[in-house]
Amino acid sequence: MQMKNLTWLLNFVKQDKWNILYLFWVTFFVPLFFFQSTNLDNYKIIFQIFYSFVFSIQIYCFSLLTNGVFKRIYFIFVFILFFLPSIVVLAAIHIDKAFLEDTDFWFVFQTNTDESFAFLGNYLSWGIGLIVLIYTLVSFYLLTIKISTGSVMLRRKSIILLPAAVFMLLSGFSYSMEASNYVVDFYTSFYKYNYALKLYDDHADERLNSLHTVSVNLPDTVQKTFVVIIGESLDRGHMSLYGYNRKTTPLLEKIEKELIVFDNAVSSDTQTSGSLKKVLTFANTEFPDNYYLKPSIIELFNALNFKTYWIDNQLNKVNDPVPDIYIKISRLSKAYINLNFSQQDESVLQLLKNILDKKHETNRFIVIHLMGNHLPYKAHYPKSFEKFTGFDDINSREKKSLTTDQKKTINEYDNSVLYNDFVVSSIFKLVKAEKGLAYVLYFSDHGEEVFDEKIYSGRSYDNITADMCQVPVLIWLSDDYKKKKTLSVDKNRPYCLENMIHTIIDLSFIKYPDYDSTRSIVSKDFRERPRFVNGKDYTTLP
Ligand SMILES: [Zn+2]
Repeated sequence: MQMKNLTWLLNFVKQDKWNILYLFWVTFFVPLFFFQSTNLDNYKIIFQIFYSFVFSIQIYCFSLLTNGVFKRIYFIFVFILFFLPSIVVLAAIHIDKAFLEDTDFWFVFQTNTDESFAFLGNYLSWGIGLIVLIYTLVSFYLLTIKISTGSVMLRRKSIILLPAAVFMLLSGFSYSMEASNYVVDFYTSFYKYNYALKLYDDHADERLNSLHTVSVNLPDTVQKTFVVIIGESLDRGHMSLYGYNRKTTPLLEKIEKELIVFDNAVSSDTQTSGSLKKVLTFANTEFPDNYYLKPSIIELFNALNFKTYWIDNQLNKVNDPVPDIYIKISRLSKAYINLNFSQQDESVLQLLKNILDKKHETNRFIVIHLMGNHLPYKAHYPKSFEKFTGFDDINSREKKSLTTDQKKTINEYDNSVLYNDFVVSSIFKLVKAEKGLAYVLYFSDHGEEVFDEKIYSGRSYDNITADMCQVPVLIWLSDDYKKKKTLSVDKNRPYCLENMIHTIIDLSFIKYPDYDSTRSIVSKDFRERPRFVNGKDYTTLP
């Protein structure tokens, strides 16, 4: 009896071998690369592969229920379903050596932002391109030439129910392991991402209604110029202001005595959108839902009768649909000015000058979102700032194992830091000429790894290094400001940018019930808290 069953099964497999090969090729190709990921332990990797294998068996078993044109549609559907998640997971494993889970996928959905384009441009190398090509061509070959759409004789319906039962069992187990199949994860993550956006839209009235409690503790007649510069991908470890061996920030160093230079701040996220969503709102690790429950900094200033400006030099075109929380917030400003990314950052200077020239506006809150030091570094500085070209003064820990191209990338990054120094110090200079109460707050949305801790440039989602989150935070205050208010300054305060809204409120004399002085970096009440980057404890990062 046993023997008979085995012979039947072998015959069955032989009869349906091309269909089996096709479905396993499409659904089990990527899991074969799981072992290259370094963010999971072996036990978890084996579980992920086994889980994917059972999922593949299940997908195959369902194909047995179809025949003819439905079978073909089913086979095409499986390919479409797996294609995008497969490329994304493959690319992350190939480049970051990281297996993506849950919200790690969000960066993919944030289309229209600089990050996704940079991801494609920088990370989709020839190696990964070739793998994707092979994956696609073999799939198409099997699909169009080899598969048979006839129905297969099924003597035992239990063959379908059995893997289904195993899969259900594993699903419960995987939930306790906080893991699931990457394809399932990709689509549930997409749903969660859109749901987060929907929550933000649905609570707009609630946020507006809570604004009557905001007030500002300043006379209306005083000229106020409050400027926040949001930098991009700047690792403070590459600024000579913070001790970098190359002179990358000579102009900021010239005015160092006029600045408060905080040297222990980190971002809460290694992506622009994740970081700024918290910077601009009351959301933080403890209260993640506050991004939609409470008003953003722009809404607070709008309610205070400030003219709010947002000068944007990132790839967020004015007519694009708004795919992200922080972009939605930027559009709430009374004047949103966009440079469409194609220009160098110094273009913001003339725009800022035009705003500052409007002396009749006494209450001004201006956010400047720079392109800064984003990938590809070379594109974000003019030729005249190409100062670092040699390799002798590179002092990366990994220097010995770097290729010429990688050393060139370090040079390009440092040149972009030099250019950023020019842009940011020029903004300081422009605001310095203003009368009345004025401050400039500068920080970068997150840092960047540029072959310092590991042989890698950019930011990853799971394999974070300290360089990817260590950011500069600088504050300049006008003389009138200093007469009006004395800040509590301790440059070494361990700070996380997720609390930045409290610092801005504090700097701006605003009174609001949700303001928490223990989260302001310039308050005497400041309190140290554990810091998390992409949910990971900062102190454990390499
Ligand atoms: Zn960014």
